[in-house]
Amino acid sequence: MQIGIYPGSFDPVTNGHIDIIKRSAKLVDVLIVAILQNNKKTSLFTMEERIKLIEESCKDIENIQIETFSGLLVDFAKEKNANLIIRGLRALTDFEYEFQMAQMNKHLHNDMETIFLVTDVKYSFLSSSAIKEVASFGGSVCDFVPEIVAEKTLEKYKGE
Ligand code: ADP
Repeated sequence: MQIGIYPGSFDPVTNGHIDIIKRSAKLVDVLIVAILQNNKKTSLFTMEERIKLIEESCKDIENIQIETFSGLLVDFAKEKNANLIIRGLRALTDFEYEFQMAQMNKHLHNDMETIFLVTDVKYSFLSSSAIKEVASFGGSVCDFVPEIVAEKTLEKYKGE
């Protein structure tokens, strides 16, 4: 059984992430969407909120599991019997970091392969940070994220 793992912060999940989730779920038997608990980064949404938003947004995908992890991705992947890491590439600027991480992960765990899915051009400018920035100024983000995510993101900034 091929278990793939798609790690990220998903703070919050965007249509770009969902596109990668849908496409990679077709390539593996089970896709684990793994949300990184990073204490060094302040997040807008709690882990529970991020799980809920991904669950709501990916209801129709049958072979995904949503999990959280902290520490080394390769350790978590091993624990889950996953040997395929999936990452999305938006632009050349993503490449250098992703290339380094893929090589580091391969060095740490030789069986671990990383595959990159190239973003659909309509999502190439989308990032969670851009969503937060637009929403923080009261702008509409409903073209870029599922309705529930747009609603919850705007709510976060209301009353600030
Ligand atoms: P991280 O903090 O790990 O970069 P993100 O949640 O921002 O977490 O992204 C998780 C993964 O999704 C990364 O591989 C990133 O390149 C990819 N990704 C983010 N936005 C998009 C997008 N619009 N299209 C395709 N891939 C994306």
